[in-house]
Amino acid sequence: MPDAEDELIDREIGHTTVLFGAKQGKYPHGNSLLVRGAEHSAIIDPSLAVIPRHRAGRLPAVHLVINSHCHEDHVAGNFLFPDVPWWLHEADAPGIASLDAFMEIYSYDDEAVNAAFRQALVDEFHVTPRAEGVLSYADGHVFDLGGGVEIRVIHTPGHTRGHCALHVLPDDVLYLGDIDLSSFGPYYGDAWSDLEDFERSLEKVRGIEARHYATFHHIGVVDRETFLERLSRFAAVIGQREERLIEFLAEPRSLRDVSDHRFVYRPGDPVPFAGPVERRSMAMHIDRLVRQGRVQELTAGRFQVTSDVVD
Ligand SMILES: [Zn+2]
Repeated sequence: MPDAEDELIDREIGHTTVLFGAKQGKYPHGNSLLVRGAEHSAIIDPSLAVIPRHRAGRLPAVHLVINSHCHEDHVAGNFLFPDVPWWLHEADAPGIASLDAFMEIYSYDDEAVNAAFRQALVDEFHVTPRAEGVLSYADGHVFDLGGGVEIRVIHTPGHTRGHCALHVLPDDVLYLGDIDLSSFGPYYGDAWSDLEDFERSLEKVRGIEARHYATFHHIGVVDRETFLERLSRFAAVIGQREERLIEFLAEPRSLRDVSDHRFVYRPGDPVPFAGPVERRSMAMHIDRLVRQGRVQELTAGRFQVTSDVVD
């Protein structure tokens, strides 16, 4: 770990402690939550930064691990807690059962990328498959930690099938996982992602009143006013990608042309899985535009906006 244990910042909000990651939680780092009830303590999404804290003896006994979804950076510290249940939403829980199952979540259309990423899961994220001791929750599940401390589950699919927001009470912290409010915008580039589910989930969280909104990545913890402002900008990125795509499809283009042009990542950003993620993400936009009659498939695999849109 390049980051020394003593550089890691903790923030207390009532029974909740935000365990900030290195670089304020910018990927591959992340911010985890420790929630202490009268009877049980839960850790939510143990990130890489939980490892040095654990080694330094800075954590209390943890009775359960709750993962907001099954992604490498969110389960990177799960292995530190092999004797307690790991809870995931029922739609994502199958992913933690084996490395093959974990890779199904991504299923990139490039075998070299899949192989490199599979290795990174083990080497960089300590992904430790587990079949026994994994429990699943569904929308509306309430974790009762004792003394009135609760964590309520709100299913917010799209980023993954099982992605959930977690509302910690009475501290009134709504943990948003990877609805991360960043300027990058929503990520829906995996096999288990869905653009339109993500859009519905964005509307769902907008309506949830809380005092604090916590994200896994670098936006950290914000109040409702900042949350609403950032959520609008975050959601708007989807429309911006789609508008740029419509402009690009003024000429007939293949999905490969689209991924080379880049709509999700910036051109030139050295992201090894950019190609597969661009293709999966933008294929969902193309599907929607075809359904709406705004784009047509001219010949197999070549797309162009329909003429009335061009006019
Ligand atoms: Zn994620």
